[in-house]
Amino acid sequence: MKDLFNLQGKVAIVTGGNGGIGKAIARGLASVGADIVIAARNEAKTAEAVGDIHGKFGTKVIGIRVDLQQEEQIRNLAAKTVESFGRIDILVNNAGTNIRRLPQDYEAAEWDEVLDTNLRGAFLCSQAVYQGMKTAGGGKIINIGSMTSIFGGAKLAAYGTSKGGIVQLTRSLAVAWAPDNIQVNAILPGWIDTELTRQARKELAGLEERVINRTPIGRWGEPDELAGVAIFLASRAADFVTGVALPVDGGFSIMI
Ligand code: NDP
Repeated sequence: MKDLFNLQGKVAIVTGGNGGIGKAIARGLASVGADIVIAARNEAKTAEAVGDIHGKFGTKVIGIRVDLQQEEQIRNLAAKTVESFGRIDILVNNAGTNIRRLPQDYEAAEWDEVLDTNLRGAFLCSQAVYQGMKTAGGGKIINIGSMTSIFGGAKLAAYGTSKGGIVQLTRSLAVAWAPDNIQVNAILPGWIDTELTRQARKELAGLEERVINRTPIGRWGEPDELAGVAIFLASRAADFVTGVALPVDGGFSIMI
């Protein structure tokens, strides 16, 4: 039972790890000893996150620039991680984006941007790390879904489709890769205070209060509140847990 949550010697890639929920998860994994690869587009934000996390926890942290809409950049991310650290044990498919439109108003390119980033990107990253994890004797993949994995919304056709897909992707990968000792699970965050939802609050009048009233715990969540669940799912403690979609939502998904 000792050191059930220790990740020393493990290497974790966190997509979108330069801000919001991804950065909080990267910090969490580093706090229990994991070496970290921050994978995102904005190199200045990534450099800041790398400095922060290394400074605070002392584990090895590097940034690799990747646009998840570009397949060859995803292959490069996996290859460079193995080149730098020699292994890949944990992948957190966290990066995500949203474009809010009524269904009739989406341009095909907008639909593609959301689906390619949130769902195709997560699939290709998982595919790209598979061999590395298999070689390491197993691994953990953590996909970030959403309450929109469960609920619909008028302006959520693209985002909700991508997040619903994340849950089904999680289940299929969990079954396919169970024989390789790779566990694949999803976290479904409720409303968390990040750049993404700051934008939502600008676009959706009254959202701030609606979330507070609709959430049994009666407040927005903080990015750091996702770290503990991510540590659990990345650790030996979750070796017999696979294919689940775990809400971290202050009770949002269990209240009528
Ligand atoms: P942020 O906007 O703060 O972070 C999004 C991250 O994704 C950034 O690090 C961004 O980095 C990265 N990203 C976006 N597009 C790409 C791309 N094409 N290639 C590589 N990286 C990309 O959002 P959150 O922290 O709130 O969201 C993180 C995840 O949590 C997302 O999947 C989101 O859908 C999900 N989520 C968030 C909730 C919330 O309430 N905040 C609720 C439920 C789910 P860069 O721009 O540098 O590329």
